[in-house]
Amino acid sequence: MSKRIIVIGSGAAGLTAASTARRVDPEASITVVTEDEHIAYSPCVIPWVLEGVGGWDSIVMHSPAFYKDERGIDVMIQTKVTGVDDERKVLVTEGGELPYDSLVIATGGTVFVPPIPGKDLPGVFSVRTINDGKRIQEWMGEVDSVSIVGAGVIGLEMALAMRHMGKKVSVIEMFPQVVPRILDADLAEMVQSYLEGQGVEFVMGAPIASVDGDGKVEAVTVGGRRIDCGMVIMATGVRANLEVPRMLELDIGELGAVRASPSMQPYRKGRLVRNVYMAGDVVMCESGVVPGPTMSQLGSSAVRQGIVAGTNAAGGSAMHPGVVSPWVSVIGDMQVAGTGLSKGLAEYYGIDVVEGVAQGYTRARYYPGGKKLVVKVLVERSSHRMVGAQIVSGEEATGRINWLTAAIVTGTTVEDFATYFENAYCPPTSMVRDVALNAADRAAEKL
Ligand SMILES: Cc1cc2nc3c(=O)[nH]c(=O)nc-3n(C[C@H](O)[C@H](O)[C@H](O)COP(=O)(O)OP(=O)(O)OC[C@H]3O[C@@H](n4cnc5c(N)ncnc54)[C@H](O)[C@@H]3O)c2cc1C
Repeated sequence: MSKRIIVIGSGAAGLTAASTARRVDPEASITVVTEDEHIAYSPCVIPWVLEGVGGWDSIVMHSPAFYKDERGIDVMIQTKVTGVDDERKVLVTEGGELPYDSLVIATGGTVFVPPIPGKDLPGVFSVRTINDGKRIQEWMGEVDSVSIVGAGVIGLEMALAMRHMGKKVSVIEMFPQVVPRILDADLAEMVQSYLEGQGVEFVMGAPIASVDGDGKVEAVTVGGRRIDCGMVIMATGVRANLEVPRMLELDIGELGAVRASPSMQPYRKGRLVRNVYMAGDVVMCESGVVPGPTMSQLGSSAVRQGIVAGTNAAGGSAMHPGVVSPWVSVIGDMQVAGTGLSKGLAEYYGIDVVEGVAQGYTRARYYPGGKKLVVKVLVERSSHRMVGAQIVSGEEATGRINWLTAAIVTGTTVEDFATYFENAYCPPTSMVRDVALNAADRAAEKL
């Protein structure tokens, strides 16, 4: 009999695991079970759809029929998993029982909404799925001011989308800087002042106290101040969705997500669970920079983990290395990117870092259209190893942050980066010596 593989979740992690399992085992019976109505789309594009780039239909890449016809994968949409019997190897759904030989859990995360008065008032939204996007779109047509709670990258992308739609926008952030935790304060200040220039108001260093209104949102209260608004978007972070892992009594790690081995298998009471694999926002994994666990919560990480989980679920052999988690965000004309540790994270892990910052342009100084480029590198003082980098730029941040990530992943010292990592050059694409190398020089001079 062919192997029966069930994947729970149709996000980036789940669908990647299912498609990978198909490549590894052409004979397996593969079923994806998902609560979602829409599958195979990237939630990352929701802010742009809200400001009019494309439509909801155009961001859905494949239908369940595509998976059935092209990949021989059954996708059961709008089907909630309500139980798992690990002894009998049976998944319980609202529609009945499904037997499995291998199970992949890719149940993602849910937006954490602070438990404040008024959080359930009509007009309060979070952003995670296409249906969230559609609900926001419907409501925003009726209002002229929006409060965004949380100044992480999703909150900032949403803030600018709302500005582009002509709304008055306030962003409320309990930390004193935007993009807390993963971006250093000096670069965060550049991002905030760019957005202020676009008309976004910030209320920093104060948590939201309440959402106020009679029957629907009329205002928010923060730091004793009332800000009138017609809607509130909670961009307050993501928590692993642990409903299914709890059914299997899997070990939950210190970061509030399922602990997974490099084979992407979970543990129960410290022992590896056979025939169960994990991927995506529901897991914590090993950091590729420091010993210990981290949360990646990125679509790109979900895909990498899905490949490992799907391979192993189908009987292949793959290992997930630690994550460095490069990220990039486009906020209007500004690109912001980071990789590895920020100064705050380095401090959290007890790593003494030296920074090097350089400024220049994305093209040769004389070539028209060049944009300002700021690169920071963070280097461990004792080993000279590069442990983090950040970029604020007008263009081309992705290629540079990937290049810096390669240096971090390979444990390269800052001196070796500056010496051996050559850059390609053409006047419309970079300066003759790239600004990232100058940032490395600045750090090396301090060591
Ligand atoms: C607005 C926004 C912008 C983003 N931008 C970026 C970006 O630019 N770059 C980047 O790398 N990442 C970005 N991300 C993060 C990225 O989208 C997530 O990390 C990624 O989608 C996680 O994928 P996942 O498969 O783990 O989880 P999800 O996509 O959350 O999928 C979870 C799946 O599990 C299913 N499920 C859960 N419980 C059950 C159950 N009991 N029964 C059945 N099904 C269940 C759900 O229905 C869903 O299909 C963004 C996220 C958002 C919301």
